Amino acid sequence: MTTRVLVVGAGPVGLTAACQLARLGVDVRVVEKLAAPTTESRAVGVHARSLEMFAALGVLPRLEARGRRIAALQMSDGRTGHLRARMDLADVPTRHPYVLDVAQPDTEAVLTERATELGVSIERGVALTGLTQDTLGVDVTFSDGRTDRVGWVVGADGGHSAVRRLVGEQLHGSFQGQHFAMADVDIDTSLSRDLIHMFTHPDGMAMVFPLAGHRARLMFLVDGTDPAGPTMEQIQALAETRMGGRVQAHHPRWLTYFEVHHAQVSSYRHGRVFLAGDAAHVHSPAGAQGMNTGVQDAANLAWKLALVVRGVADEALLDTYQAERHPVGAAVVRQTTVLTDLGAATGLLGLLRDAVYFVAGHSRRVAAAAATRMAEITIGYPRGPLGVQRGGALPAGEHCPDPAELRDADGTPVSVESLLARPGFLLLTRNRSAQLRLGEIGTVIVLDSATDPLGLGDGMALVRPDGYLGLVSATADQEVVDGYLAAKIGDVAPASVRRPSALAG
Ligand SMILES: Cc1cc2nc3c(=O)[nH]c(=O)nc-3n(C[C@H](O)[C@H](O)[C@H](O)COP(=O)(O)OP(=O)(O)OC[C@H]3O[C@@H](n4cnc5c(N)ncnc54)[C@H](O)[C@@H]3O)c2cc1C
Repeated sequence: MTTRVLVVGAGPVGLTAACQLARLGVDVRVVEKLAAPTTESRAVGVHARSLEMFAALGVLPRLEARGRRIAALQMSDGRTGHLRARMDLADVPTRHPYVLDVAQPDTEAVLTERATELGVSIERGVALTGLTQDTLGVDVTFSDGRTDRVGWVVGADGGHSAVRRLVGEQLHGSFQGQHFAMADVDIDTSLSRDLIHMFTHPDGMAMVFPLAGHRARLMFLVDGTDPAGPTMEQIQALAETRMGGRVQAHHPRWLTYFEVHHAQVSSYRHGRVFLAGDAAHVHSPAGAQGMNTGVQDAANLAWKLALVVRGVADEALLDTYQAERHPVGAAVVRQTTVLTDLGAATGLLGLLRDAVYFVAGHSRRVAAAAATRMAEITIGYPRGPLGVQRGGALPAGEHCPDPAELRDADGTPVSVESLLARPGFLLLTRNRSAQLRLGEIGTVIVLDSATDPLGLGDGMALVRPDGYLGLVSATADQEVVDGYLAAKIGDVAPASVRRPSALAG
């Protein structure tokens, strides 16, 4: 039987899953329904947690070259221009304290390029149409009549997922929400292009997301939609009214209406089939969480699936994908619902919202906390199934911090993010004499013994391939590592007797 993984959908989530699986040594095939890449610039805001992951994947410089760094979010009164609140991103604890505004087709192009470098086969113009599974594999059918038997399927085929339907799963939630008019245009403006601008207005909120060059995404809350879509005249009229004449739009690329839905599936795993990204959860674009949540689903799933496919881990590890990511998706659906309802509030509730934003936006501490949450930096699995704390200062289950002062054993500056470019686990320690080993599943990194910005002491921290802390221990002890791997990753041979690494790079 083949152990190959089929990824359905070459959107940002499917491509991330394919790249992560391939760099962990798995044979991956991607099928994509569209014959040519989409030009629809849907997700434009890439947050810090995703930027960290893209840096480790080796694609961040390419993404940055196509996008624009955003320093802050600013909320103003659309009629007077008076500032109501500002959320600076500089205080977010990350090596990337900004939002990268980049159009989704650019993100997909960069990920496609990386996937190809990693040897992933991407077949365009091929849709998955059928799927049945047994305990050993999955039989799949494609729109061109071909069939295949694969080991595992990752359904990253978006909000109208065929994979979701074929496994008998469905989205549960609300399918009647607010309507937005959206325009991907060039703009002339007196507004700073380094900020995302949100305008409050009695007719409804409006937003500007500056992209590279003169390009920008404009969004307006509207009462209803027209199947013919908004015209440039309507978009300009909305901008005149709600942005106080500060934005002149031209060169339309994509004008559309969309309705907000908030929903999630019950189960992210159906035997040998997984759901990720919009196939598993849909919600409003408030806070730009959709693609970001999806690419992190992919990063969470990929390393677990890679270890199982390669016969290194027990299949039970795959259940932790649901345990860790379903609650994150549920929280995103809840939070974006509240944010969208607040944004749409009018009358007394609207005034109350403006007052709360004013107070919150003028407290640096509150604004920094909100920015850190929006950047998805607070996401962790502290009570999850894979965190084990045996003393030590770092919190098991949380993402590994990446302090600027980190140095390797030679005293050379280094980052956790760059270390994670090596596929597999990282075992961080300052203790040279412990002689730790990870065998084929990762790399032991001995850090500078003269400094300790991570608070490792004499102990160690096992960082998962997705950057989260698995084991944290006050002592650097091989038996503790082997015990953790046997208990949490599966019934595997101790790291001390495994072959050296054969990961893809
Ligand atoms: C207006 C708007 C603005 C948004 N802004 C943001 C933002 O700023 N930040 C953010 O994080 N998110 C944002 N989102 C959400 C974001 O676009 C989605 O969350 C993201 O695209 C999900 O990625 P995905 O890969 O899961 O799905 P998709 O991007 O939908 O990709 C799925 C792919 O699967 C393919 N496919 C479908 N069926 C099949 C099949 N049967 N066989 C093979 N292939 C198939 C599709 O053609 C598609 O290419 C926005 C969404 C909208 C509508």
